[in-house]
Amino acid sequence: MSATHEVFNQVEPLVDYNLFAGNQALGAALKFNAPALDTAHLHALGAKLGSADMQTHARLANVFTPQLKSHDRFGHRIDQVEFHPSYHALMTAATAAGLHGTPWGSPHPSPHLSRAAGFMFFTELEPSMLCPISMSYAVTPALRDNPAIYADWAPQLTSRAYDPALKLWKDKAGVTMGMGMTEKQGGSDVRANTTQAVPTGSDHWGQRFSVTGHKWFFSAPMCDAFLILAQTPSGLSCLFLPRVLPDGTLNPLFIQRLKDKLGNKANASSEVEFAGATAWLVGEEGRGVPQILAMGTMTRLDCALGTSGLMRQALSIALNHTSQRMAFGKKLIDQPLMKNVLADLALESEASTALALRLARSFDRPEDEHERAMQRLLTPVAKFWICKRGSHFAEEAMECLGGNGYVEEGGEGIMARIYREMPVNSIWEGAGNIMALDLLRALRKADAAAALAQELAPARGMHAALDHLAESLPTRVEQMATEMEARRLAQDVALAVQAALLAQTAPPAVFGAFCDSRLAGHWGHSFGSLGAGVDFDAIIQRAQPR
Ligand SMILES: Cc1cc2nc3c(=O)[nH]c(=O)nc-3n(C[C@H](O)[C@H](O)[C@H](O)COP(=O)(O)OP(=O)(O)OC[C@H]3O[C@@H](n4cnc5c(N)ncnc54)[C@H](O)[C@@H]3O)c2cc1C
Repeated sequence: MSATHEVFNQVEPLVDYNLFAGNQALGAALKFNAPALDTAHLHALGAKLGSADMQTHARLANVFTPQLKSHDRFGHRIDQVEFHPSYHALMTAATAAGLHGTPWGSPHPSPHLSRAAGFMFFTELEPSMLCPISMSYAVTPALRDNPAIYADWAPQLTSRAYDPALKLWKDKAGVTMGMGMTEKQGGSDVRANTTQAVPTGSDHWGQRFSVTGHKWFFSAPMCDAFLILAQTPSGLSCLFLPRVLPDGTLNPLFIQRLKDKLGNKANASSEVEFAGATAWLVGEEGRGVPQILAMGTMTRLDCALGTSGLMRQALSIALNHTSQRMAFGKKLIDQPLMKNVLADLALESEASTALALRLARSFDRPEDEHERAMQRLLTPVAKFWICKRGSHFAEEAMECLGGNGYVEEGGEGIMARIYREMPVNSIWEGAGNIMALDLLRALRKADAAAALAQELAPARGMHAALDHLAESLPTRVEQMATEMEARRLAQDVALAVQAALLAQTAPPAVFGAFCDSRLAGHWGHSFGSLGAGVDFDAIIQRAQPR
């Protein structure tokens, strides 16, 4: 009791809980995609990431943001970025959990799906430092096309040790990798890249080049090496550019400044220049775009997983808040209209989780033709649709907390952090339109319509609106939508696949409400407009974080 008033009807924050144990949607999706998966490690990770200690690290890493140290006090260039110790604690935890390169060397079944689940709930804790973790995961399919470099770097790429020192890769316990495509004059259209790579001979790592130019967005510049795009005599090519050269000297990669961003605060994103930096060819000269897209495909998966994780955390906080806060004589969660908002958010969150993890499964079975087709089809679909829904979702979840949701309070306001983070997953790694256009390219494959029909078949007869959409999609796919229609097609494929997955993983209350609202039109243009016949309590109960 203070001198002026009593503080009451404020909520206890959501802390010290298991991010895995309480997530029924995620548990059901894992069981569906890999019934025999041993989830003991996910239980342990879920408990750790829901702890007060880890939440404190996440807050501090966002409050004390990375600082560029371009020169030492004697004027020598050092091009280092200094991070708060909490950033390093988070990187250590993510690496120990095997969220970076580890799945590529794993003998266990379903390593990508298992890693995807861990990545999703690490995102719930802190998404932005996962940028270098994601890129280090994503690089392997592209880097393997230079077998000599991959053989030298794979042990450190797959090691569970985090080693932030700027030194020769072979003297380190673990390494991270980034990518540089975007230049000032064009990011989506990387063919506009002007950075030049001049051949200088060859060695143990293959064809060597001297690189001069710049990158306008270059995240996590403290990574040990990068895949970049540059113009060689044969055209745009993919090159491996380490920060420290094999002779131990620093490669001339100059960090010009760090970006001042809306969110994504714990991650350093920079602008860089290459002043005759040494780099080695990866893949075929002149075929740099498809080569680096082997990396981009994996980071797009992570955008879908990451946004699903952020949705889940925003929903959990909203449920925690409304379960305690009273207004007009009732807990908020018992007010009918709030039930509608919460249940609607829960449907969206579960559908995103189902789609993102379905996509992750396809990376575990590249030998299976249907899985390969789904990987190609669902990567742009999931990246487009889930990330598009993210910002709207975060705004509505924030509103469940009223004014407290909007307040930062020195980094305590996790909801504000989530809201600021959401748009970036939609922009980077191919913005919304680029993803929708990529879907059109994927559909040019002869078997795309048949693969989609096969994916939707298990849900046939379970909901009239889903049947109707499922019947029309293969024809629309075969007739090939025009560019003008690409977003609508990406949306409809996403909704159909989400509904078909929920038919197989979720209780009837969730599946029915999802189809009624998203497919049959019993829905408005905002969250919280589900029809009256929905079993709100069942949906909300399933989504509760504890
Ligand atoms: C925080 C942050 C970190 C980043 N880190 C990296 C990094 O580490 N490495 C890296 O290489 N890049 C990075 N990026 C860059 C990012 O990938 C690009 O910003 C993105 O790909 C878009 O490119 P652009 O900014 O040049 O926009 P543009 O290419 O100019 O696109 C602008 C808009 O036009 C749309 N558009 C483009 N072409 C078409 C078309 N044909 N039809 C219809 N619409 C179209 C796009 O969808 C987009 O909405 C980062 C970006 C951010 C915000």
